Amino acid sequence: MLGLGTWENEDPDQCAESVRTALEMGYRHIDTAQAYGNEDAVGEGIAAADVDREDIFLATKVWISNLDYEDVLETTQASLDKLGTDYLDLLYVHWPSRAYEPESTLAAFDELYDEGTVKNIGVSNFEPRHLDEAREHLDAPIFANQVETHPMLQQTELREYADEHDIEIVAYSPLARGDVFEVDVLGEIAEKYGVSEAQVSLAWLRENDVTAIPKATSEAHIRDNWESLSLELEEQDLERIADLDRTRRKVDPGFAPW
Ligand code: NAP
Repeated sequence: MLGLGTWENEDPDQCAESVRTALEMGYRHIDTAQAYGNEDAVGEGIAAADVDREDIFLATKVWISNLDYEDVLETTQASLDKLGTDYLDLLYVHWPSRAYEPESTLAAFDELYDEGTVKNIGVSNFEPRHLDEAREHLDAPIFANQVETHPMLQQTELREYADEHDIEIVAYSPLARGDVFEVDVLGEIAEKYGVSEAQVSLAWLRENDVTAIPKATSEAHIRDNWESLSLELEEQDLERIADLDRTRRKVDPGFAPW
């Protein structure tokens, strides 16, 4: 339910250290991507941690320029080499953009799934229409859709779609890239429980069956987020969060499909 994000954790030694710290604290899900330029460092952190590979849920993503059939196969092999593993627990299509062609891209994902290199197939930044189309082309099930989700972008429609089709929602930017610290309602709730706004956001996501992957660099942030697992928000606080303005999107590149 709670993983470690690594986007912009770019200094290799720091990134490896964050991954090792998180794993030794109890995290078991690590999220990276070809585009983050840190798969080597993530692999080093995993190797350095006193945790077995098979106890870790490792996810990476194929970048939008690598989504031709052959490129998916070749660059996934390169990701495996960098990560120092011979399988991935989850491989995502990073965005339905640029070289993404449902038929050929997803045929390569199916092949990796069939040969056991990839245990689960995921998509990211997919809207309902992309999910419909992908489900038509894929033989394997879609395990997860990774999308920006936090109290100010609640993704109600995508969560309903996911429920209906048995797809996990993985929340990226679950702290709204720091904006959770600026919202009064979250501040008031945090004060009530004596926790951080980060914990409030993560506990709200968990209550809604959403897996969160906050990016944190320091041990203090990694631990603060981990402690959200013991925070139980009361119904009235969940309702206050549900009533927040829901349109604050933080990740919106020009190639986004919306
Ligand atoms: P985020 O997790 O919402 O926020 C990260 C920011 O919050 C960092 O500045 C971090 O600082 C800070 N932070 C973390 N924990 C904190 C705490 N307890 N108290 C105070 N500050 C805290 O943003 P994100 O990195 O955009 O999203 C998380 C992960 O989702 C990414 O790292 C990546 O793995 C994934 N992602 C995927 C996509 C996609 O297209 N699929 C897009 C965006 C992100 P420090 O680093 O200093 O700890």
